Amino acid sequence: MTTAHADSYYAASANDKRERPRLRDAIETDVCIIGAGYTGLSTALQLLERGFRVVVLEAARIGWGASGRNGGQIVNSYSRDIDVIERSVGAEKAKQFGAMAFEGARIIREYVDRYQIDCDLKDGAVFAALNLRQLKHLAAQKALWQKHGHQGELELMDQSGIRNYVGSSRYVGGMFDGSGGHLHPLNLALGEAAAVERLGGLIFEDSAAIDIQEGEPVRVRTAGGEVSARFLVVAGNAYLGHLVPELSAKSMPCGTQMIATEPLDEFQAKHLLPGDHCVEDCNYLLDYFRLSADKRLLYGGGVVYGARDPADIEAIILPKLLKTFPQLEGVRVDYAWTGNFLLTLSRLPQVGRIGGNIYYSQGCSGHGVTYTHLAGRLLAEVINGQASRFDLFASLPHYPFPGGHALRVPFSALGAWYYSLRDALGI
Ligand SMILES: Cc1cc2nc3c(=O)[nH]c(=O)nc-3n(C[C@H](O)[C@H](O)[C@H](O)COP(=O)(O)OP(=O)(O)OC[C@H]3O[C@@H](n4cnc5c(N)ncnc54)[C@H](O)[C@@H]3O)c2cc1C
Repeated sequence: MTTAHADSYYAASANDKRERPRLRDAIETDVCIIGAGYTGLSTALQLLERGFRVVVLEAARIGWGASGRNGGQIVNSYSRDIDVIERSVGAEKAKQFGAMAFEGARIIREYVDRYQIDCDLKDGAVFAALNLRQLKHLAAQKALWQKHGHQGELELMDQSGIRNYVGSSRYVGGMFDGSGGHLHPLNLALGEAAAVERLGGLIFEDSAAIDIQEGEPVRVRTAGGEVSARFLVVAGNAYLGHLVPELSAKSMPCGTQMIATEPLDEFQAKHLLPGDHCVEDCNYLLDYFRLSADKRLLYGGGVVYGARDPADIEAIILPKLLKTFPQLEGVRVDYAWTGNFLLTLSRLPQVGRIGGNIYYSQGCSGHGVTYTHLAGRLLAEVINGQASRFDLFASLPHYPFPGGHALRVPFSALGAWYYSLRDALGI
């Protein structure tokens, strides 16, 4: 595995290019965390704020995984919404999930504010409907979110209304969420890492955990050293591989790709996204886009089940971009990259404990920027002796993908094909 950041617009515009040391000793701490993405870093911050000693082991670089490559879209709630959770776990528990559905976005803003993180944070997100079925769904989503205490502006838009937000004729309407937003994802991760270090946490890069010995203390071995800790948090998500076999059985790494155009001129950028908000459409395999601080259009979409890296990313994503914005025909693409997120069958996060002192949260299935920040708080709470909110997530049922390890990729692609067909037909 290469330890350099993916060759993305984000890596090129990272605020902090310092490398952290490799682990070369045997050290002892309160909590060892595997993975320096948002789940690991948010957990580290929350623990340090509560007085724990923390060591973070990162196989590559800080934000090397999905956290440093994503669309940067702050999307509220979970990858499946509260109504779906209610059908699975009942109204009483769903109410408790609802009460947490908007907390992740608040935590991000708290960190940015408290730790002065420079990550181009902008408010406002648009969900764009491609057909009337999707628009009807957005109306139901608005009612659902308001019922569960969404604070702030939610506005439904018809076909002419959405043109004030997106300069594309593809959409029949949409919903604006004032408490959504967007940011430079790698700079958020790097800012969080710097805050971890200011609070006394240690971060080691190029230090993959290669073996875990359960017990008290739990021992985590890397090629160059070892950490003994009272608690372990596993936050390796789609890049964890088979280090913890219990965790790989009910989840599947998936790739999604992004491109960044050349910087657009002010007039063009204003025409495409007049309010500088981020946008995602409502398809099962959705497109998502926004402007960067230097006015590039960052456009992503599609899913590669099983996370094989596609050979020509631009050939996959540019046609999607041009379908939305034909006026950009001929635009130059400066960066193209891929990243992996972790899918679960229910598309809800997989949370739990192994033995008495190993905790994990993974599998937020595409919408993880906000949830991972909530997860950090839940993991810190449970380690600090307050288990109720963590246990609620841990109670979500999870199942292996149909077809087992050998057939889960084609079976999932078939399922996605079915949902994409329904999207295309608007049914
Ligand atoms: C291209 C793309 C676009 C996306 N867009 C959005 C979006 O706009 N909005 C949204 O909400 N979500 C989005 N997502 C999803 C979101 O980015 C993820 O859900 C989230 O970042 C997951 O964070 P994480 O910390 O759990 O995992 P990651 O960020 O993947 O971090 C895991 C880290 O663990 C490390 N690691 C793994 N194994 C080991 C080991 N053995 N030892 C040490 N370290 C290890 C990895 O190197 C990695 O750095 C997107 C994802 C991708 C890939």
